[in-house]
Amino acid sequence: MDKKPIGIYIHVPFCAGKCPYCNFYSVEPEGNLINLYTEAVCKEIKSNLGICAVPVDSIYLGGGTPALIEIKNIDKIINTIYKCFPMCNPEITIELNPSCHSAIDFYELKKIGINRVSLGMQSINQHELNKLGRSHTLSDTEKSIYNLREAGIHNISLDIMAATPNQTEADLLKSLNFCTDNFIPHLSVYLLKIEESTKFFKIKDSLSLPDEDTQAKIYLLADHFLTSHGYKHYEISNFCKNDMESKHNLKYWNCDEYLGIGPSAHSFINGKRFFYKNSLSEFIENPFQISDGSGGSLEEYCMLRLRLKDGLNEKDYKMKFGENIPRIFYERAKKYADLGFICLSEHGISLTPKGFLVSNNLISKLIL
Ligand code: SF4
Repeated sequence: MDKKPIGIYIHVPFCAGKCPYCNFYSVEPEGNLINLYTEAVCKEIKSNLGICAVPVDSIYLGGGTPALIEIKNIDKIINTIYKCFPMCNPEITIELNPSCHSAIDFYELKKIGINRVSLGMQSINQHELNKLGRSHTLSDTEKSIYNLREAGIHNISLDIMAATPNQTEADLLKSLNFCTDNFIPHLSVYLLKIEESTKFFKIKDSLSLPDEDTQAKIYLLADHFLTSHGYKHYEISNFCKNDMESKHNLKYWNCDEYLGIGPSAHSFINGKRFFYKNSLSEFIENPFQISDGSGGSLEEYCMLRLRLKDGLNEKDYKMKFGENIPRIFYERAKKYADLGFICLSEHGISLTPKGFLVSNNLISKLIL
C-alpha cells in the first residue's frame, strides 16, 4: 500500500519578547541567528530525506513568531521542502501576530505558497490584550484579515483565549461575535492554562483566574455560541465551517506521521517518535534527534482520536488495527454516556463537549 502523505512542521524559535502565559521555546533574534537558523533548517530537511521519502501534503510554520525570519527565509525553507519531497497539493500554514500587517507583504506570502494563516488574535478587548501582554490591537486584527483577503488568502484561523484573568462572559462573546461577523472559517479557542515556566505562574495567586466551574461554563458557552452559528466543534479546542479543518493538525489527532524540524520540534516517522532539544545553539551547531520511543500504539491512537468530535469509529479502527474497537471500551463508556459525557453508537465512541472538558480523565477511564 502507498504510504500516506506526511506533514512537515517547522518550529521558528524567535520572538521579540516573551508573553507572560507562553511556554513555547523562543529566543530573541540577535545578530546573525536568523540566517544561521535558516541554513540549519534547510540542511536538516535535506538530511531527513532518507528516512521519509514520502509525499507531503501539509507544511506548518509555527513558533515563536515565524514572520521574524522574513519572507526570503520562509521562501528558502519552503523551496527546500519542495526540492526534497514530492508535494501533494499542500496546505501551507503560517502563524502570524495580528500586528505584522505593517511589516509583511501578504501578496508576497501568497506568492511563495502560503495558503493558510493562523492569527494569534486572542481577544478583541483591549483590557484582555493588555493583561495577556500582547502588543496588537483590534484594529491590527481587522487590518490583517482585510489585507490577507485582498491578497487572496481566505483560509484564516483565529486564536481566542478563554478563561483569562477577569474575563467576563460578555468579553468572550464580543470576541466570538467578531469572528462570526467576519465569516472566519476556523477558530481555535483555548482555555488559559498556567504553565510552570511562565511569568503568569509566578504571580498566579494575584491573577483573579476563574475557578473550574467558571472555566467549564465559559467553555460550554463558546461551544454553544459557535455551534449555533454553524461551526463544527471538531476537536477539543477547534471549530470550523464547511470542512475547513486544519489538515496539518488533524495529522496529530489521527495519529498520522509528521516530520518536525527546529529546536523543540517533535516528529513521528516510521513508527518512531523523536525530537530536537529546546536549544537554538545546539540546533545550529549540531542538530541531533533524540529518540522518544515507538508511537502509534492502540492506547496512543485512542487518546489522540478521542480528542476529535468523530472519536473512535469502527471503520478507521479496523483499518488501523485489523479488528473492532474492544467491547470493554463500550462497557466502560456506558455509565459516562448516561451522564452526558460520551456518545455511543454502533459506529463508535466519542466525547461530548461536556466530556471534552474532562477528556484526560475520561480517556484514561476508557482505555487504561
Ligand atoms: S505567545 Fe506567541 S508571540 Fe508570545 S511569546 Fe509565545 S510564541 Fe512568542
